[in-house]
Amino acid sequence: MNQPPSPDEGPGSDDAPLGGVHLKYLHHCPRQLWLYTHGYRPEQRSDLVAFGEVIDETTFTRRRDIDLGEAKIDWVTAGAVIHETKSSRAPAPAHAAQVRHYCLLLERRGVAVRGGVVHYPLIRRTVDVPWNDEARDQARQDEALARSVIAAPTTPPRLPRRECRGCSYLDYCWGD
Ligand code: SF4
Repeated sequence: MNQPPSPDEGPGSDDAPLGGVHLKYLHHCPRQLWLYTHGYRPEQRSDLVAFGEVIDETTFTRRRDIDLGEAKIDWVTAGAVIHETKSSRAPAPAHAAQVRHYCLLLERRGVAVRGGVVHYPLIRRTVDVPWNDEARDQARQDEALARSVIAAPTTPPRLPRRECRGCSYLDYCWGD
């Protein structure tokens, strides 16, 4: 198991990279975010993650990833509109938060961002994610909250078990 990063060098520090997965985990479960950034990575073996990657790779074959280093955006269309694909069958606040974070990252690089769209190919739905002052404030607050969770000296508490269904950390949190 890896040593926890020091707050000065890990994503808890103010200028450290914070990617979409950090925001997704923050909204799903702060404990998941903390464990992830402190070197626990069971999701690398998760069937659910593998399934999501397959959906991701086969749904939109002509898109172009935008690799920002700390975050990989599924694709951006003229405007700029950020697109994110999810294998989930239900829209979740975490997905929109992830897109807002990408909007913020692109805007900081000087891109005039117009908004985002989350695609759910399994249920043939899309959800628009507006980008405006309110969304920008929300993205900044999420970023600050994620950094504070990561920098916490102890692991955040578990969620109620019914909310852990499908989480790749299930065995870690609830195993013997
Ligand atoms: S198993 Fe539950 S408590 Fe543990 S990280 Fe996942 S959602 Fe959080």
